[in-house]
Amino acid sequence: MSGRKNDLLQFTDYGIYCPQADVFLDPRKKVNAALITHAHSDHARLGCNNYLACKESEVPLRLRLGQGINLSTLDYQEELMINGVKFSFHPAGHIIGSAQIRVEYKGEVWVYSGDYKLENDGFSTPFEPVKCHTFITESTFGLPVYRWKPQLEVIDEINSWWRSNAEQGICSVIVAYSLGKAQRILSNIDCSIGDIYAHSAIQTMNEGLVKAGFDLPLTVGLKDKSGDLSSFQSGLVIVPPAASTAAWMKKLEPYSTAMASGWMSIRGSRRRMTTDRGFALSDHADWSSLNKAVQETEASRIIVTHGYKTAFAQWLREKGYEAEASTSDYFLSGETDDQ
Ligand SMILES: [Zn+2]
Ligand SMILES: [Zn+2]
Repeated sequence: MSGRKNDLLQFTDYGIYCPQADVFLDPRKKVNAALITHAHSDHARLGCNNYLACKESEVPLRLRLGQGINLSTLDYQEELMINGVKFSFHPAGHIIGSAQIRVEYKGEVWVYSGDYKLENDGFSTPFEPVKCHTFITESTFGLPVYRWKPQLEVIDEINSWWRSNAEQGICSVIVAYSLGKAQRILSNIDCSIGDIYAHSAIQTMNEGLVKAGFDLPLTVGLKDKSGDLSSFQSGLVIVPPAASTAAWMKKLEPYSTAMASGWMSIRGSRRRMTTDRGFALSDHADWSSLNKAVQETEASRIIVTHGYKTAFAQWLREKGYEAEASTSDYFLSGETDDQ
């Protein structure tokens, strides 16, 4: 438990709780009513009786938690009253359908950010700042050392790597999380370089999104991994981390591997990783974006979750905010929040 006894949102063993409405936000355990910011596994968990999320999150949520979940949806900005508390979802720009949750009761406004980034990634609905009195922010990359290059530059680097491999007849294998990073790369990459193949986890997500009307370039599914893969030599293969070391990958040889993740900006992580290249592309806010986001809420009280919460809360206190690190560890720190 952290915060104060009468807080509108409270940190409990079951997750972030709104006692007045008797609902949980991204609960970590099975509860009756769950409001979900996005479909990553540390925010959307199985077993709740009722789910409420924003409309754009429906496809990934049902693919992850099962088509049969009891899910209601709201458009971004649409309001729902539960026992006098007004709830609404606002774009968080993290992955498709990701939202911040605004909670208002008797004139007091709280915003729980979920995961977010400020840069428009060209696929997710871009982040919108929401004014509030208390802001619960993530801090996955809440240290000054984390500063992202603009997406355009990173995508250029990926294009050059793929193009040069293709010219040499080497297959390009990029490791990316199946929900979020994979679609972000796909919707920005230069598709004229060659064919794009997707691992089944990614292909299933993409097909679901395309069917629901989202715009993504066509990828070829890697369903038959036992077949002839010799035609892949100028292609780009997108695989989730769990599949990147699978034995069938040998069939792609010769190939070059790359990882797209915020952790790739740090030299130590680059050395430890097993891929040939690392591209620092993150779906979380970097240091300057976290600070900008906090400022734009105009909140005076900040509660920090994820990653570097203690350091970031300390920094905010030095800047004059009433800031605290949440005592609970609900969320995985980092981009390990997904496969
Ligand atoms: Zn996430
Ligand atoms: Zn998270």
